[in-house]
Amino acid sequence: MKKRSRKRQKNIFVPIVVLIFCCVFTAMVAYGWQSRKKNVKVADSSSTANETVESAQGETSGESETQAVSESETDTTAETTTAAPETTPSPDDKIVYLTFDDGPWVGTPRLLDILDQYNIKACFFVTAQYMENDALVDMLKQIKDRGHNIAVHSLTHDYKKIYASVDAFLADYDAMDDIILKATGERTKLLRFPGGSNTGYNKAIRTELLQAVRDRGIIYFDWNSFDGDVEGKRGQALIDQTIQQVNANKHSTLLMHDMPSTAFVHDALPTIIEQLKADGYRFELLGMDTPPKQFAK
Ligand SMILES: [Zn+2]
Repeated sequence: MKKRSRKRQKNIFVPIVVLIFCCVFTAMVAYGWQSRKKNVKVADSSSTANETVESAQGETSGESETQAVSESETDTTAETTTAAPETTPSPDDKIVYLTFDDGPWVGTPRLLDILDQYNIKACFFVTAQYMENDALVDMLKQIKDRGHNIAVHSLTHDYKKIYASVDAFLADYDAMDDIILKATGERTKLLRFPGGSNTGYNKAIRTELLQAVRDRGIIYFDWNSFDGDVEGKRGQALIDQTIQQVNANKHSTLLMHDMPSTAFVHDALPTIIEQLKADGYRFELLGMDTPPKQFAK
């Protein structure tokens, strides 16, 4: 009985071992497969991650390209700004070009201080009416050194004399330009005709005069807004007229005077500047590349 049972036990033992072995083997195979599957999964997910990284890098590099493009556009704009600041001002931009006629005079530095305070550059159409010799040269130099443009208005500002003939006009122009050259080291090609290009004083010679000026490469600038200073406007009335006339145009060339009899313009200027800024205008320097307002062509 004992022997039998041992034999039976042996008979049972073998299949159990085999079964256990099978189970272990199956378990190992299953585990191995699972872990391989896991590895594959990890590999998949890591490759997906890599792709994500790559595409992210791609996007990033795309972005940096975009940035580069926008930078290069900015550069282009900057170049354009440097080379030709007002070549093509956007029609929707509100721009004011401040221009001061008839100076300089001993009071001009106060005007320069106000402009400095707002970091605004202006174009001065100058004469030799209120200063002469070294004092005039020094003042013109100071205006230029403080970042403004200097242009010819007239040496004498004597309408009858300068509009007597084309030669008379050009002689007056050249005499003023010689002083500008002495002060700044360069000639100017910017002009504002006293009284404007369509003044009654030049009627007899106008066609010939405008052609002679153009032939010399001179650009003349009239205006489309005016503060009324030489027409008796003062204080609030001057401010109101200026704001109203500037706001009539997106691009305004504003005429004001800088001379002893219009010193009150200096008092009104801060209010005018602040109001125009509030109205959305920016101040640009009138120069060779500014599209000119011209009454007579
Ligand atoms: Zn004038």
